[in-house]
Amino acid sequence: FSHPIAMEGEEILFSAAICGIPYGNQLGSENLLNYVEYLTALVPRTQETLLVRGDEYVKHGFLRQKTIEAYLYRAIEEDLFEVYYQPIYSLKEKCVVSLEALVRLKDEKLGAIPPDEFIPLAEQNGTITQISEIVLEECCRFLAKHVLPNPSLGIRTIHVNIAAAQCLNRNLKESILPVLERYHVPTHMITLELTERTAIEAPKLMLWHMQEFGKIGMGFAMDDYGSGNSNCSYLIRFPFREIKIDKNMTWSYFENPTAKIVIENEIKTIQKLGLPLIMEGVEKKEQSDALEALGVDMIQGYYYGKPMPETECLRYIRRMHFAKEEYGKS
Ligand code: C2E
Ligand code: CA
Ligand code: CA
Repeated sequence: FSHPIAMEGEEILFSAAICGIPYGNQLGSENLLNYVEYLTALVPRTQETLLVRGDEYVKHGFLRQKTIEAYLYRAIEEDLFEVYYQPIYSLKEKCVVSLEALVRLKDEKLGAIPPDEFIPLAEQNGTITQISEIVLEECCRFLAKHVLPNPSLGIRTIHVNIAAAQCLNRNLKESILPVLERYHVPTHMITLELTERTAIEAPKLMLWHMQEFGKIGMGFAMDDYGSGNSNCSYLIRFPFREIKIDKNMTWSYFENPTAKIVIENEIKTIQKLGLPLIMEGVEKKEQSDALEALGVDMIQGYYYGKPMPETECLRYIRRMHFAKEEYGKS
């Protein structure tokens, strides 16, 4: 396996792994092959010799993954997903101007299953497409019922996360637009969030999607900026309308003096390009004040509210408006 094999002009590299599975028979033959896949995926791809041995801890992780995967299918069938909304606060307007929709999944036995755990599984098994449809439908229902009839809430858009698998579909627009039409939601009220990892998976197709959505007034925000091998080239290549700086970048800005210099420059570049900037992961007043002084436009973080169910979120926004008016009077 040390040399690539040529096939139709492409060089294909193969790798092999030797897996040790103590008491493999306890897993049942139907799970054994999946377990081998799970084990090999745990080893970094760059590692050349693979000798993997599954211990009890690894086996436990595998079985939890299987349980969650089975629950995902049930949750789709039985409509068990919930959508929470996290405020995006404008430092200039001093109010909540957008929300990010974040999916939630709970089970009596498993408790709350974090999206960081089930979204990657849903991406692997393809159920992400159905989950995204559920989330989008829920957002449009929420906008039609609460936001469109109440302009005084000041909510301009809901940010919805889209996954790589959705972007590989040329009919992405055709799968999204009818949902908005059904609820009479204007296209500018949904912003699609895309990570740089997703954008580079199929860059030409992604660029085409962005242009197509642009024609109907729907914009994209770059999510988790700075979490991957990000550099300013993404800002040049793709017509993003907003940039969201990843929460780990925000945290290192306040912890690491070198990171602070680098991030300050990134912020300046984004500002010079005229792109609205959202900093994620702001948890303290001092952090918000420091970013306001830098001219950052918007903040998303626990300081301005955690993700909440819709009723709580509406109550929260109204309370913020009330506090702003009272402050204005005094
Ligand atoms: P994300 O898109 O980067 O969403 C922001 C995450 O940061 C959320 O985690 C939010 O709760 C968390 N967060 C926001 N502010 C703070 C803060 O101040 N401190 C801390 N410690 N955390 C903060 P959550 O809801 O657990 O979601 C995790 C990830 O799962 C999301 O990261 C997104 O990649 C994915 N995800 C969630 N909902 C969806 C969805 O509907 N569709 C897709 N495709 N992915 C989703
Ligand atoms: Ca996001
Ligand atoms: Ca993010």
